[in-house]
Amino acid sequence: MKVLETEIVIVAGGPAGLAAAVAAGENNRKSIIIEKSSTTGGAANMGMGPLGINTRIQRENFNEISVKDALDLHMKYTHYRVDADLVQTYFNKSADTIEWLEDMGVEFAGAFRYFKESEATWHIVKPENGVIGPRAAGPMIRALTERAKELGCEILLETAGKSLIVEDGRVCGVNAVDKDGNELQVRGQAVIVATGGFGNNKEMIKEEFGLNLAEDFFPFMIPGITGDGLRMMWDVGAAKFGANIEAIYQLPDNLNWFLLDAVLRQPNLLINQNGDRFMNEGYMGNTTFTGNALSLQPGNYGYCIMDEGILREYKKNGPDIMDIVHPADAFLAFEGQAATAVEQGYPAYFEAETVEELAEKLGIDPEKLQETIDEYNEYCERGVDEKFHKDQKFLHPITGRGKYLVGKFYLAAYGTVGGVRINKYCEVLNDEGYPIEGLYSAGSDANTIYGDSYNFTLPGNTMGFAVNTGRMAGESAAEYLAYLEEQ
Ligand SMILES: Cc1cc2nc3c(=O)[nH]c(=O)nc-3n(C[C@H](O)[C@H](O)[C@H](O)COP(=O)(O)OP(=O)(O)OC[C@H]3O[C@@H](n4cnc5c(N)ncnc54)[C@H](O)[C@@H]3O)c2cc1C
Repeated sequence: MKVLETEIVIVAGGPAGLAAAVAAGENNRKSIIIEKSSTTGGAANMGMGPLGINTRIQRENFNEISVKDALDLHMKYTHYRVDADLVQTYFNKSADTIEWLEDMGVEFAGAFRYFKESEATWHIVKPENGVIGPRAAGPMIRALTERAKELGCEILLETAGKSLIVEDGRVCGVNAVDKDGNELQVRGQAVIVATGGFGNNKEMIKEEFGLNLAEDFFPFMIPGITGDGLRMMWDVGAAKFGANIEAIYQLPDNLNWFLLDAVLRQPNLLINQNGDRFMNEGYMGNTTFTGNALSLQPGNYGYCIMDEGILREYKKNGPDIMDIVHPADAFLAFEGQAATAVEQGYPAYFEAETVEELAEKLGIDPEKLQETIDEYNEYCERGVDEKFHKDQKFLHPITGRGKYLVGKFYLAAYGTVGGVRINKYCEVLNDEGYPIEGLYSAGSDANTIYGDSYNFTLPGNTMGFAVNTGRMAGESAAEYLAYLEEQ
């Protein structure tokens, strides 16, 4: 069996693993990254950018938030059920990490809010094609990859970590397998695991959350993100801790029906399979809140109903809620995708001329549906939503002008977060709360800082956590090696 020797072994080359490799190199430590897929970057290849707090970019645009305020906001949001010391270390480092990325040649388009009520912490990478949107973070991944290599990191692509090697109570390497099935060992003095959670592992998702992947739960299913690193760490005594989904909501197979999703997610009439409203739709901009509310409905979904009259108004005056991920441009191309959806029988989009027809298509009792629509329209006429007190400006009567247009939105997720517990040095803790010697984790595998719900009010938070904890883990592992040499 091939045996490779290095100083720091890094399992996975997502943003966390890459940041760890750069930090290790900056501390004059050699590293090897084992990456299962044929490219680096992981889920971040689809994303737009990391969080930064109190950055130069924010200050220049007068939209800064202090670490004090962000920490206060976050800890109150999580009811202090998360490790404040880990959060403060990450938040305090985040501005410097944005500059660290800039020093590598990463350019940022600015600091943005995800939705109106959120803070402008989302540092979106300047996209190569000039259009801010999905995949903007690509250049950041390339810069991290190049810098890691420049500093001597060897990246083994299409090589999957299988188990951790423990000798004399210390984690000191990884058993892996390459694309041809050859087994190899990569040995070092410290191992950093950052395999991005288990957002694409049907069994684990069922076991941990009782959800059925691609049946009642539609996350972005990134190939290869299957919980390997978590299992490897649990096998050597890491405490099982804090696994959760990074909840959002979307239409199934979202990437193929992106325009429908972007247009139909307006704060109109949102009902469940029983025909009942269940939340203040004015909060639909907060994708986590809405995902949570959907998770309490039968089947984890809801129908968002509008009509062509409302659509016309949106086209003329702009939509009620708009964000960078779901831009107003989508409204211009909606009809084409809607026609394709009808033609292909896409099961999460419905059109109907009458309430009866709609009720039949949705499988809801027609009387009940009529009742709910009538009640809602009464609120719209009076300008007062007596149930959920939705803002008057969102109260557009649903009259079926033209026809009814309906999206079936499901609980979804960017992926999972958490599974093992780390401290502020990114050391992985065992059941007794003590570090497992030589073992570090970063990124989504170790992201337990949100409690029950992802904090979308500080957007860029998971990529931010990944890059910052990756960097922290690389620095800590380098310090650990220095400590070993002193012994
Ligand atoms: C569509 C989309 C958009 C997003 N946009 C944003 C955004 O704009 N801002 C933000 O903050 N967050 C965003 N996120 C989330 C963000 O991308 C993730 O939080 C981040 O990528 C996590 O980094 P990571 O390094 O922990 O793991 P990942 O990026 O998930 O990478 C994990 C890596 O591990 C590899 N791997 C898995 N198993 C093994 C194994 N056994 N051996 C070796 N390698 C293995 C995988 O191939 C992968 O490369 C987005 C996510 C998605 C899906």
